[in-house]
Amino acid sequence: MERKSKKQCSFCGRSEEQVALLLTGQTGYICNECAMRAAEVVGEIMHHEEDKPFEIDRVPKPKEIKEYLDQYVIGQDDAKRYLSVAVYNHYKRLLQVDNGDEVEIEKSNIIMVGTTGTGKTLLARTIAKMLKVPFTIVDATVLTQAGYVGEDVESLLSRLLQVADYDVKQAQRGIVFIDEIDKIARKGDNPSITRDVSGEGVQQALLKLLEGSVVNVPPEGGRKHPEQKFIQVDTKDILFICGGAFDGIEQKIAQRLNTHVVGYGAVEKTAKIDRDNLMQYVSPQDLKSFGLIPEIIGRLPILTYLNPLDKQALRKILTEPKNSIIKQYVKLFEMDGINLSFDEDVLDYVVDKAVEFKLGARGLRSIVETIMMDVMFDLPSEHVETYRVTLDYARHQVEKANLAKLANSI
Ligand code: ADP
Repeated sequence: MERKSKKQCSFCGRSEEQVALLLTGQTGYICNECAMRAAEVVGEIMHHEEDKPFEIDRVPKPKEIKEYLDQYVIGQDDAKRYLSVAVYNHYKRLLQVDNGDEVEIEKSNIIMVGTTGTGKTLLARTIAKMLKVPFTIVDATVLTQAGYVGEDVESLLSRLLQVADYDVKQAQRGIVFIDEIDKIARKGDNPSITRDVSGEGVQQALLKLLEGSVVNVPPEGGRKHPEQKFIQVDTKDILFICGGAFDGIEQKIAQRLNTHVVGYGAVEKTAKIDRDNLMQYVSPQDLKSFGLIPEIIGRLPILTYLNPLDKQALRKILTEPKNSIIKQYVKLFEMDGINLSFDEDVLDYVVDKAVEFKLGARGLRSIVETIMMDVMFDLPSEHVETYRVTLDYARHQVEKANLAKLANSI
């Protein structure tokens, strides 16, 4: 056969003309097909590694988990500590052996309470990144009582099965983050709701999962395929982390604290109440007043809270986390060979705008995006090596975009 090129795959020997793509290495080449095959083999080997049972000295200690979280999430120390301990204990539970002493470490599911945009999902996601157990985030708002439009509670486990590649054993020791748990609170005093389809019924169904039971899970996560077989999943060892904004719970906390002060004087004696951040005093009673049924609360024994983000925290969020918004823009420009920088007062301005429009941390990105839109459009086709964003420019861009519109849309 005639050889037009000397370049050939070092694995299968095929020449450049015989393959779709030939990647060049320092001393050889690999073709697209061999690269794909190699990826498969690596995947298989790594997967086997993960199948190995845990050993306690390989499990990250609570301090390590928190240090990891610190790299990505600003503040929220209490929540981080609670989560770190809970995750560590979850691993220990998975390691426990029955040595006849009848001491069984029970699962401690967690509930995090905090205004929207304070980092609940971010915490859960970050934990997922460092964990070696299947992990999934699901939204409680899609759940309805069996028989009604929406998803059955069992669908939470379909997602977990999916991320565990349908390895039931793996899924059974996974972690599920249920977001917006407050949205399934009982809406007792709302007369317009005749059937509490999304409230107490869902809580009852969820309770079974939290308690630990064997559940029939539709593999594809819906009722749309009645012919498919169910997979049985035991939820005994699955750790559930719930999060919710619980809008208005501060009033319930305040009410309770006031009664206590009058009743027992206990709170008054221990500390002065910080009225600006009542969330830190949240207790199981308040969840009950909010509309969670006591059984559910009992199955979520670890209750922690997230602080509202003040200006200082927002300012840090812009620049400090490992993948902070500003770092992401700098990287984007770096790829075009442009050295991007922001004046300090631009960052203060972004924070001020986020606070002014009550956009919180979630708004930081949209504001920076608004400022950067035009330069992101123009600069890649111009030959610039550096670009500095000034306050005047930032202000001009934001005013031009009429941020008020943005505020309404978030
Ligand atoms: P929640 O789940 O509490 O409603 P998220 O975790 O989804 O809020 O936060 C929304 C976004 O705001 C995140 O993606 C992140 O960019 C930013 N953010 C919120 N809180 C923090 C925090 N404490 N540290 C760093 N970034 C944060």
